[in-house]
This record gives sequence, C-alpha cells and structure tokens, in this order.
Amino acid sequence: MSLKLPYIIRYIIIILLLSLSVKFFFSGFYKLAIEETKGTIDINVENKKKIKEVLNKLKTIKSEENIKKIDDIKLIKNEIIIKIKKDDTLNNILSPYFINKKIKNLIINEIGKEIKLKNLKINQKLFLYKNLNGVISKIIIPLNFSTDLVIDIFKDNVSGKKLKLDILKEYESKKFIIKSSIYKDGKDAQVPLTILSNAIRLYSYDIDFQREIRKGDEFEILYEVFYNKQRKSILFGEIKYINLILQKQKNEFFHFKTNEGYDYFDREGKNIQRSILKTPLDGAKISSPYGKRTHPISGYTKMHKGVDFAAPKGTPVFAGGNGVIEFVGRNGGYGKYIRIKHNSQYKTAYAHLNSYIKNLHKGQRVNQGEIIGFVGSTGKSTGPHLHYEIIYLGKQINPKQLKLLPTKKLKDEELKTYKNEINKIYSNFLFYIYE
Ligand SMILES: [Zn+2]
Repeated sequence: MSLKLPYIIRYIIIILLLSLSVKFFFSGFYKLAIEETKGTIDINVENKKKIKEVLNKLKTIKSEENIKKIDDIKLIKNEIIIKIKKDDTLNNILSPYFINKKIKNLIINEIGKEIKLKNLKINQKLFLYKNLNGVISKIIIPLNFSTDLVIDIFKDNVSGKKLKLDILKEYESKKFIIKSSIYKDGKDAQVPLTILSNAIRLYSYDIDFQREIRKGDEFEILYEVFYNKQRKSILFGEIKYINLILQKQKNEFFHFKTNEGYDYFDREGKNIQRSILKTPLDGAKISSPYGKRTHPISGYTKMHKGVDFAAPKGTPVFAGGNGVIEFVGRNGGYGKYIRIKHNSQYKTAYAHLNSYIKNLHKGQRVNQGEIIGFVGSTGKSTGPHLHYEIIYLGKQINPKQLKLLPTKKLKDEELKTYKNEINKIYSNFLFYIYE
C-alpha cells in the first residue's frame, strides 16, 4: 500500500482537526473566565448576567444599610441580630434570652470551643432564631467570610458545628482615564477603595505619582470578587492584573504564586519592587521636605525629621508597609498620631491626623497600603497635612536613604508556568471588561 492516503480520509482528518480546534478554542475561552477553585460554585455564561445583577443590587443595599445604620439589636420576624459592643460578655448578651442557666452555660461553652471568649471582636454579630413556640432554638455566629458556627439548642442540651458556606468567585475588570488622580478617578469608576489603595501601593516604588502621572494616562485592573450567597455579602480579593499606562507606556503586573508565596511580576517575570512607601497617600504634594528648616510656628531653625504632605482634610493615609500598630492616640505636638513597627529595623509614624480608621488599635496587624487614618491638622500644625516619619533603628531618616528590597526573576519551569498563567489572567481581564 502506498503512503498516500485516499482523498476521502485526508478530508475527514482535516475536518476533524478543524472542529477540534474550534471546540478547544471555545471551551478554553469559557474555562478561563471561570477558573476552578475549591469550594467555588461553577458559573456558566447564562448565569453570569444574573450574578452580576445580584452583585450590583447587593452593593446598593450595602450602601443603604450604611446610611440607615444598623441598630445594635434588630428584630426581623423570628430573627434577632446582636452586635457585640465594647466590654460585652457572652453571659451578658445571652442572659436576657435564656432563663435556664445550664443551657446558657452549655451554649457559652460550645461557642468557646471556636472563639476565644476573651477577645470577642467588637461588631461581631450573633444571629438568634426563635422556633414556632417563640423559644430560641438556634444561634448562628459568622466566624469568617465563608464559615458559620451553628449552635442548635434543644430542651436540655446543645450541639455546635461549623458550616462551610457557598462562596461564588467572580471577577471585575475596570478601565478608566486619569483626569485628576488614580484615587479620585478610580472611585468614580466604582473601583472599591480597598482595591484602589492596594493598586496605588503596588506602584509606589516604580512610579512617582506626583510627577509621572499626566492627564489622559490610563488605568486597567482585574480583581476577584467573592460572593457569599447565604449572607448576601461581598468580599473583594486579590488584584490579578494591573496596568498603569503612562504616556502610552504600559506598566503591567500579574499576580502569581511561586514557592515563596504570591507576588506581582511583569510580563518578563521580574517581580515588583518593594520597600516602605515614600508617599503614604495619593495625590499629595510635598509641602516641607526632610532636613533643616525654619519652623513655621516657633520660628527657630531646626531639623525637620519627617516629610510633610499637603492634602485636603480627610484624605486617606495608607500604612507605609506591613506591620503591627505600636501606638495610636494623641501624642503631644504630633496631635492624633499612629506608629507602625514593620520589622526589627523599620518603623513609620503619621502625625496631625484628623481621625483613625474605625477600631484601629495597638497590636493590630496592618498591610502595606491599607487605610489607617485620615489627614487633618491636630496638634502643632498650621493647616491640613500629613507629617510622615520613617524611623530606622530608632532614628528618623531621610526617605531618600530608604533601601529597596532585592528583586526576583522567574526562570525555567516557573517562568513557563507563569507565561501560561498570565495569558489566562489577561483573557479574563478582556472577558470581563467587554462583558
Ligand atoms: Zn512635619
């Protein structure tokens, strides 16, 4: 038999190959948009629209709730919602609802297995449910975004179990033109504040926001949105793709997991630079640099051991790096003041604040770029500004002396995996932007 295949067979093979490639193209395309994650409900394309509607509705409900301000105890039919306040104990909270002391103690005991009762969080919610006889037969306590603690109460005993809730993973893509600042225009484009501050933090070493951003520059972003169906709540996740286009020049970064954990890398596989933020707020101008100057109030010439940023009252101030809150409160001439310890060498301090973010307290862990307070003019201050200090080995230093952490470059197998991954991420970005 000759090696030449009959025409009919060649035809069949070609048609087979063609239809296979079409199939893979489309199935791949949808798969990219869905990305399989453990504990995540699959979303098909028809459902996507519905989910989007629900998400949008939820956002409006959320803001309405904020305006109305939820009462500490609210009764909806047979549900009682209790919000934990300062100095509350479970015993105090539950006493009005349980006359039977034995049952009450069993409940406290059961909750204590999951939550350290001594550090009950302020604003932690408890949901109490009455049965048809008006007796409380169930308590639900959200432990985190995706887990509830469910306590069933019977006549003379109780039982507790952890319940994993269905979490739906979605993405949102946004693209906007910068007219004033990333913060302002991002807010207008309805990018969540937490996502925006993370985005600004990512660029803070590479880009001088004051000098390099011009009117007409563009911004693109893809980030995760988690939706908890039962609680009807939303959690914003990681930024997966980000691109700040400065005068047609792309500055792209992709979220990728290496052996050392997640980081952001450019298209070539070089990671983003990291250090302590030199500018811990967006759109601010340096009004007084580090160094010798005549003090505006005392008139004496002395060292200015920080950098002053002029900004309108209420401008969000970001944590300069990951760390633990070491001080929060009034501090003499500094006015309202926050200090963060980043590691054994570095600390940062923020002075003259108008206010702190809700519930900020000593010992609290904060991430770089997270909002910690708001610009003000408290203490010895002539007008709204942020006085920012970077402290190295106990002494304030000029931010110019700050050293960058070493960078990393992906290679070999890891680089290959990365290149595959970023194609998927970029397709996702396009898919959600043109949806
Ligand atoms: Zn100052």
